[in-house]
Amino acid sequence: MVTAYTHEPFTDFTKEENKKAFQKALTYVNTKLGQEYPLVINGEKIVSNVEEKSINPAKKAEIIGIVSMADKQLAEQAMQAALQAFETWKTTDAAYRANILFRSAAIIRRRKHEFSSWLVKEAGKPWKEADADTAEAIDFLEYYARQMLELKNGAPVNSRPGEQNVFNYIPLGVGVVISPFNFPLAIMAGTVVAALVTGNTVLLKPAETAPVIAAKFVEVMEEAGLPAGVLNYIPGSGAEIGDYLVEHPKTRFVSFTGSRAVGCRIYERAAKVQEGQIWLKRVIAEMGGKDTILVDCDADLDLATSSIVYSAFGFTGQKCSAGSRAVIHQDVYDEVLKKVVELTETLIIGSPEQADTYMGPVIDEKAYKKIMDYIEIGKEEGRLMTGGTGNAEKGYFIEPTIFADVKETDRLMQEEIFGPVVAICKAEDFDHMMTIANNTDYGLTGSLLSNNRDHIARARKEFHVGNLYFNRGCTGAIVGYQPFGGFNMSGTDSKAGSPDYLLLHMQGQTITEAF
Ligand code: GLU
Repeated sequence: MVTAYTHEPFTDFTKEENKKAFQKALTYVNTKLGQEYPLVINGEKIVSNVEEKSINPAKKAEIIGIVSMADKQLAEQAMQAALQAFETWKTTDAAYRANILFRSAAIIRRRKHEFSSWLVKEAGKPWKEADADTAEAIDFLEYYARQMLELKNGAPVNSRPGEQNVFNYIPLGVGVVISPFNFPLAIMAGTVVAALVTGNTVLLKPAETAPVIAAKFVEVMEEAGLPAGVLNYIPGSGAEIGDYLVEHPKTRFVSFTGSRAVGCRIYERAAKVQEGQIWLKRVIAEMGGKDTILVDCDADLDLATSSIVYSAFGFTGQKCSAGSRAVIHQDVYDEVLKKVVELTETLIIGSPEQADTYMGPVIDEKAYKKIMDYIEIGKEEGRLMTGGTGNAEKGYFIEPTIFADVKETDRLMQEEIFGPVVAICKAEDFDHMMTIANNTDYGLTGSLLSNNRDHIARARKEFHVGNLYFNRGCTGAIVGYQPFGGFNMSGTDSKAGSPDYLLLHMQGQTITEAF
């Protein structure tokens, strides 16, 4: 019997003892930088010919780790290992599989600040964001393990006299997991273990900018008793092994989190039936967002202000849930805008290693350039209120940037920037706010700040997003409490951390015996 699921609490960094413990973990991780991380194929550590440095985005000169990269041949070797491991893993008792997740959660919980410190170093996450990422990874382990225990006996069906019907869920096969840099522990772990606990075997291609944290997680799974070949760690470039694995006839499903462009490409390539392929691949894709915060004329304006600022600039805006546009009722527009600018100007930007840093760097040069280009577009489309400059000398830092008076169809209001830039748009009335709310290709998160019950009721029906929030910001969904995932171009409508997520990794089988 397992205890009921509750989410992992966040660390209270106002407590001196917690601050000290975190600092100690950071100091420890600082002594572990620059090590080599081989591939893991069938439990074997393989150093390949090509190695890439994973660097600290806040301090480019600092090497976090040196990571072996897989080529096609190694990817094929990993595929063969995963295929072979599937033959035994698929019939391993579900409770046995779930227990590996419970043990992994316990290991990470014991080393929580250490994992968060790796996130600070490799992804540039400030303490609070890193702590939340680690907590979410623990949540996925705890939650999906329990979900599997619920599903292990299938679902009830009827039987007529003289027959016995059973309806069970069985795994699919080998899954390719392609994970993102922005939640390099939580989303990576969540997508991997959802596939594993349901009896599939996995080829993990972690984000190219955050492979070390994934290697640390693979070590934990091994320590928790995961058999060789069930989870294979194969960092590599999209061009070298991404397409190869997606197109491979033995790939049964792809679980991807990342950009819309890459997600669409994967969806298209996975759809083509290759020679020797005897199934239609499943694709689970969690892609982008252009998420809106709506501020009604009677809203609590301080709450609206903090909601806009945190949703826009938490983890430097590098969340697909980020509130990258705010639509404000004309009656309160000037006041909210002023408050948002004022609050933004108090944010501390700098090294994520400092306890009081609110916003660190963006992930790499490519992201830096893309965001700076959007800032130039913003200068044409709107009124620059604060920020607008970057500095990529030591690390990839960009100021939190606000553009006001952006028009509803402008690029800044339509395209995902994935950086610390928020577009602010004025709405005439609530009808206008609702029209703007649904005017993008995406449908991931959104929130309405309002004290008008009729407007809240209308938004419940009309605001077409997968995660809809009232009187709070639009980021920070909790596993098992707020299943996360969006509509339209935000992905395949899957919901991570939901009661039905594991089913995406399984197929139902009906067995009937006549007596
Ligand atoms: N689940 C996260 C949230 O609710 C966002 C995940 C993402 O950005 O990919 O903020």
